Amino acid sequence: MGFEIDKGGNYGEFGGAYIPEMLYPNIRELEENYVKITTSEQFKNEFSKLLKDYAGRPTPLFKAERLSAHFGMNIYLKREDLNHTGAHKINNTIGQILVARHLGKKRIIAETGAGQHGVATATVCALHGMHCIVYMGALDVERQAPNVKKMKMLGAEVVPVHSGNKTLKDATNEAIRDWINHPVETHYIIGSVVGPHPYPDMVTRFQSVISEEIKVQLSEKTGRDYPDYLVACVGGGSNAAGAYFHYLEDERVKLISAEAAGMGVNSGMTAATSLLGTTGIIHGSKTLLMQDGDGQIVEPYSISAGLDYPGVGPLHAWLAKTGRASVYAATDDEALQAALLCTRMEGIIPALESAHAIAILDRIPAGREETVVVNLSGRGDKDMETYIDKLGL
Ligand SMILES: *Cc1c(COP(=O)(O)O)cnc(C)c1O
Repeated sequence: MGFEIDKGGNYGEFGGAYIPEMLYPNIRELEENYVKITTSEQFKNEFSKLLKDYAGRPTPLFKAERLSAHFGMNIYLKREDLNHTGAHKINNTIGQILVARHLGKKRIIAETGAGQHGVATATVCALHGMHCIVYMGALDVERQAPNVKKMKMLGAEVVPVHSGNKTLKDATNEAIRDWINHPVETHYIIGSVVGPHPYPDMVTRFQSVISEEIKVQLSEKTGRDYPDYLVACVGGGSNAAGAYFHYLEDERVKLISAEAAGMGVNSGMTAATSLLGTTGIIHGSKTLLMQDGDGQIVEPYSISAGLDYPGVGPLHAWLAKTGRASVYAATDDEALQAALLCTRMEGIIPALESAHAIAILDRIPAGREETVVVNLSGRGDKDMETYIDKLGL
C-alpha cells in the first residue's frame, strides 16, 4: 500500500483539491511550482541552513530513562520543543516563506488557533521583512493573549474574526477569503498537513526533517535506524506526518497517533476526529471530519488548542482507514497527568498537545526490549496557566 500522493494529491480516497473557482489560479501556481522549487539545490541549501542556524536543528533525541522504567519500554523523546518558537511549526513556516520568496510574493497571510502557527509565521516574516497578516478567531484572540502580543511585537497584523464560533475554523475561512481577494501578491502559509493539494504534501515534506533526523540519531544510539513504535499527537497532523514520513512504508515500525478525547470520546465534547469522523470535505480537502447527519461540522473540543480541529489531514485519514496507524485518544485529564509525569520524571514541561502522546504510552503493547520514539512536538510555556490551574499546583 502506498502512502504517497497520486497526481491529484490523493492519499487513497482522501485528499485532492476541492476549492472555489476563484482560488484555481493560486492553487495551480503553487501546485505547478512547489516540487521544482523545493527540490532545487538553492532551496535545499537555504532551507537546511535556516533549520540549522535559525531553528536550532537537529533537535536532540533524548533517552528518557525514568519514563522508560515507569512504562517498561525504551522511550526516546524527539525534542521538537527545543526549536526556535517552541515547537515543530517553525520547520514548515521556514519552508513556506522560502517558497513564497521564490514565487515573488510580497504579502503573507496565515490562520491561527492557539497562536502557535501565527507566531511561527510572524517570526519568519520578520526574518525576511515580509508583510504578515494573521487571521484569528475573536475568542482565540482573547484566550491566547501572550501569543497575540508576540505576533504584534514581531510586526504582524492580527485580524480578529467575529463570524461563526470565533475560533480556528472561522479564521481559516477568512484567510481563504483574503487569498481570493489578493491572489497575485499573496502567499497563504497553512499551518498543518491540511487544506487543498498541494498543502498536505508540501507541509509533510518540510516536516519530514523530523524522521530524517530520528533515523540517524536512533542508529547512533541503538545501532538500528528504526523504532518498534513511533508515537505522535495529531491535531491537523503535521508533527506526526513529519515523524512518520521516512517510516511510512516500513511495516516494522508501528505508527501510533494520539488524538484529543477532550472530556471523553463519546461525551460530545471531544476532538477525536479519526475515531469519530466520517468522510467529508473541509477547507479544500476530502478527509475524516466530525459532522452531523446534515454534513454540518460538529464543533470540536479539547483542553489543548492545537488539537482542537474538526478534521485531520488526508494522510492521517488514510493511515487510520488502512490501519497503518493505530489511533488512541487521551482525555484532558489524562493529558494533564501525563504532562505532570513527564515534568517530574524528566524535567521537561511538554506542550499540552505533546502530553497527549505521552498519555497513551501505557496502552501500547511494547515490551522491555522494545524502542518507542515519542515526538515531543512542543514546550509547555504557553500552557503554564492551564497547568497551574487544572493541576492545582
Ligand atoms: C499546533 C501544534 C500541534 C498540532 O498540530 P499538528 O499539525 O497536528 O502537529 C501539536 N503540538 C504542538 C506543540 C503544536 O503547537
